[in-house]
Amino acid sequence: MKSRDRLRIAMQKSGRLTEPAQDLLSRCGLKFRQSRDKLFCFGEGEPVDLLLVRDDDIPGLIAEGVCDLGIVGRNVLREYQLTHASNGDGLDELRPLGFGHCRLSIALPQEDDYAEPSQLRGQRIATSYPGLLGEWLREHDVDARVVMLAGSVEIAPRLGTADAICDLVSSGATLVANQLREAAVVVQSEAVLAGRRELPLDERGEIAELLLRRLDGVIQVRDSRLILMQVPRDALGEITRLLPGGPTPTLTSVDGAPDQVLLQALCAGSVSWRQLEDMKRAGARDMLVLPVEKMLA
Ligand code: ATP
Ligand code: ZN
Repeated sequence: MKSRDRLRIAMQKSGRLTEPAQDLLSRCGLKFRQSRDKLFCFGEGEPVDLLLVRDDDIPGLIAEGVCDLGIVGRNVLREYQLTHASNGDGLDELRPLGFGHCRLSIALPQEDDYAEPSQLRGQRIATSYPGLLGEWLREHDVDARVVMLAGSVEIAPRLGTADAICDLVSSGATLVANQLREAAVVVQSEAVLAGRRELPLDERGEIAELLLRRLDGVIQVRDSRLILMQVPRDALGEITRLLPGGPTPTLTSVDGAPDQVLLQALCAGSVSWRQLEDMKRAGARDMLVLPVEKMLA
C-alpha cells in the first residue's frame, strides 16, 4: 500500500452523514481535492486523505488498517463490534460528533400495547441490526426470534413476515406512516469518530493527535458563546452568578469610570434573552453575545 505516512479517514460517500462530516473536517482546517473516481480525496495542506465509501464498510476498513479513522454512526460501529468480535475488538469510539442523531428502537404495530420487554417473548422481530438487538434481548432476558432483513424493515409487520421491528428512528414519521409505534430504545446514536484503540506510533499518530485536538476545539466552540458587557463593580457578584454555565469571567477596568468594569466570559451553550434581561436588571449594560470561530487552549 503506498504513501501510508499520510492519515486516511473514511466517511460516507453519499448519505445523511456526508455533508455534516465534510463540514466538520473543513472546520478542522482540512481541504481536499476530489479525484475523478470519487473514491479517494487527496488532502491539500495537511497529510490527511479521505476515502468515500458506504457507511457499513467503514468499521471494517479501520479494523483492517486500510483507514486510520472514520466518521460513522454509533449504530454501525457497535453493530460491527458485536458481529465481528475478533476485528471489532480493536475499534473504539474516539469522539461523539454531535450530528446524525437517531435511535435504534423496537417498534410494534400501533394496535399492540407495550408495557415491558417480556411481552416480546416468542415474537419475530425484523432488523438489520442483529448484533445490537440480540444484545438488548439478552440483557432483558427475552427469548425472541431475530429476522434479519437488509432493507425495508418497516414494512415487515404489514407483510406478515415479522411481529415487530428494530430499526433507526429520528422523527418517527416513518413509523407512523407504517402504522407502528416506538416501544423501546435499544441504542441512542449519533455520528462518532471511530479509530483503532491504539493510534499508530508514527507520523500518522501525530497527525491523528493534531486532528483530535482541532476537533475538540471545533466541537467546543460550536456550543460556546463569548459574552461581553459593562458591569457596575458592586453588581459583579450577582451578575457573575447569572452567567450561564458558570464561567470564570475576565475583568478589565473602564477608563474614566472607576465604578464600572468590562466583563468578558466564555459561556458553554447558548445565552437566552431571558438570561440577558436578568443580567441587565442586575445592572449590566452594552451586552454583546458573540459566536466563537476558533479556540485553542
Ligand atoms: P449507505 O449507502 O452509505 O449504506 P445508508 O442508507 O446506510 O447509506 P443513511 O440513511 O445515509 O445510510 O444513514 C447513515 C446514518 O445516519 C445511519 O447509520 C444513522 O447513524 C444516521 N441517521 C440519522 N437519522 C437517521 C434516520 N432517521 N434513519 C436512518 N439513519 C439515520
Ligand atoms: Zn449503510
